[in-house]
Amino acid sequence: MLANSRLLEDHGSFWRRSAGAVLLLLTCVLGLGEARAGCMRAPTPGLQTLADEAGRDPPALLLSTKGDPLRTDGDLAWGWRMAARAEAYDTLSQPANARSTVLQVTEAGATVDLPLRVELLARAAMNGLTVEEVERIASSLASVLDRTAPDIVSIACLQIARGEARRLSGAPERAVSLLASAYRLTKRPGRELPHVIATEKLARVLNAAGDHLQAIALIEEVIAWDTTHDRKVALANDLYFRGLFNLSRGAYAAALADFDLSRMRSPRVSDPVGSAYLDLQTCAALIELHRLLAAKPLCRQAQLVFDAWQEPASAQAQLLRAKMEWISGRHARALELLDQLLEDADRLSSFASAPQAYRLRADVNRAMGRTESAYRDLERSVRLDERRSAYERTRQTAVLRASFEADRSAARTEELARSLRFARERESEQAQRYRQLAWSAALGLLMLGTMLIMGVSHRRKLSRVADTDPLTGLLNRRCLIGRERNLFHREGFSAASTVALLDIDHFKAINDAYGHNVGDEVLKHFAALLASSAGKEDVVARWGGEEFVLVFRHRPAAHALGVLEEIRSRLLEQVEAKVAGVQVRFSAGVTSSTDGEPLHTVIARADRALYRAKELGRDRIEVEGVTEHTSSDSPPATIGLAPAGASIAESHGPAATSSLVLTPGEARLVQLSYED
Ligand code: GH3
Ligand code: MG
Ligand code: MG
Repeated sequence: MLANSRLLEDHGSFWRRSAGAVLLLLTCVLGLGEARAGCMRAPTPGLQTLADEAGRDPPALLLSTKGDPLRTDGDLAWGWRMAARAEAYDTLSQPANARSTVLQVTEAGATVDLPLRVELLARAAMNGLTVEEVERIASSLASVLDRTAPDIVSIACLQIARGEARRLSGAPERAVSLLASAYRLTKRPGRELPHVIATEKLARVLNAAGDHLQAIALIEEVIAWDTTHDRKVALANDLYFRGLFNLSRGAYAAALADFDLSRMRSPRVSDPVGSAYLDLQTCAALIELHRLLAAKPLCRQAQLVFDAWQEPASAQAQLLRAKMEWISGRHARALELLDQLLEDADRLSSFASAPQAYRLRADVNRAMGRTESAYRDLERSVRLDERRSAYERTRQTAVLRASFEADRSAARTEELARSLRFARERESEQAQRYRQLAWSAALGLLMLGTMLIMGVSHRRKLSRVADTDPLTGLLNRRCLIGRERNLFHREGFSAASTVALLDIDHFKAINDAYGHNVGDEVLKHFAALLASSAGKEDVVARWGGEEFVLVFRHRPAAHALGVLEEIRSRLLEQVEAKVAGVQVRFSAGVTSSTDGEPLHTVIARADRALYRAKELGRDRIEVEGVTEHTSSDSPPATIGLAPAGASIAESHGPAATSSLVLTPGEARLVQLSYED
């Protein structure tokens, strides 16, 4: 049972009742969840059961964890077991043991787990860790919390730790502010654990500040929780606190009833100090009810225990004993006890009821006729009382103001957590929107790309269809004219390129003799022969009907004539053999192009040569305007093909035309003349 000397300040008449404003703010019904203990939730159900046990049966828990070997590796499960152990010590009013247990864990280094660190700090703070120490650890934990998700339970437990450290160090106004904030923050389902703790601590500090009714209202919430959750020892403690609050407000019979209830549930053997406090307060209530016979052994017993445990509450027990001697008329004995009590200045400094003690001794001295001493004691009592009253009045005001501020700060913390949550939600929504946008943009681009590619390929297909002669598969005339620029001039349709125009001889006769279909077959095979004879760089096109154009790009006429000769030689095999019985011959006109010369003039020249070939009997090649570079340095030369034995004199003009009869097997390349 945790109680300490400061609680004894509650007893007496210095504290006046506070306004009901806090009552209005803090009254609420505690939500009941599953049975738990500790401020933070343990990470596993098994460890949580252990923590529950600390509130339900602390001696049993201490026994079951007694054999735990000391871990130095900061094992998490061990850390939580130790936390439960510290809580058991806390419940059994052994703050020093509770503190040293916590210290064991923190020294072992099991402090990596944030919830465990918060739990250990809260436990240590409840057992008298200094305000400075608590502040130092709490602020380092709070900065970790700020970096992670804002967790209300952790924040509340830190507030409880800080509030408790202040309550125990005698700064109730800051304690109220922090504890009320923790109380408000945890007033939600799922936060019952820290809520019960905050409620109990808040009740105690409000009672110390004089708001007894409010304190009772709060402790009743905790009692309801303890009852529902079978926390026997915790219930004994909380009934004790309600008795104390009743005592503080002068409801002695009610206080006595609470103390009796508490005693029935108290583990007297395992919690001697707690039991001593219970005896002491029962004694105080009995004195007020003038039941001195019952009171006396209780006060004496309490003082024995306090002396043995060096608890400062011993002074209070002695004061009560002196009071009883005084009421019983044993003045000398009363004086003896009071002299003993008031002679030790050190003891007096921490003795909250000093004014009461002086006041009592003044009464005793007066009754014994020691007027001067009586007057001196009275003066001291009044002086201390006045100082204390003024101090307490300001403190009470501060406490009340603090509780309002706590309300505001709790609302602010909630608001902050809410807005942080909201910001995070908005952030993730935005990120999702951006992702969706990116996806749809990518999809759009993909579709656009596909459409473009499809469009391009479609256009390509269309243009291929438009450019191709369906019968022969060669380029058509339209293509040749339309893409003249690309086909000839882009890479330099230089003078060295040679163009040949070919026309099948007497094709009409073939049609007439064998039919149009056979004519088509002839055209197809002839076209295939041209295509296979031409080089990769050359262009083969159907100029129309049975006329074809061959462009030998960057090739001299000699090369072109050679290819045409080869075509002629392959007619039998490639065309006639495939279209049985049809004799196929062709005539051709060959010319060179000059750089940048339009196609139609080149074709016209070739056509003239072709016409001449027809005129001269068909199945022959005529050249016109054929030039050739002999080397990169020398000027172009006019060349021609001459049958074996033909003389140079047969050529006409220096660079103009040559007209040579070309019969199979006879051709040979001759140099006709040089241009100037
Ligand atoms: P020449 O030796 O003077 O060139 O006499 P030719 O009969 O070959 O010339 P002409 O211009 O008198 O006749 C060409 C014929 O080619 C006329 C036409 O019906 C035929 N022709 C044109 N295109 C096609 C075609 O696609 N298929 C077939 N089977 N015949 C075609
Ligand atoms: Mg023709
Ligand atoms: Mg013809």
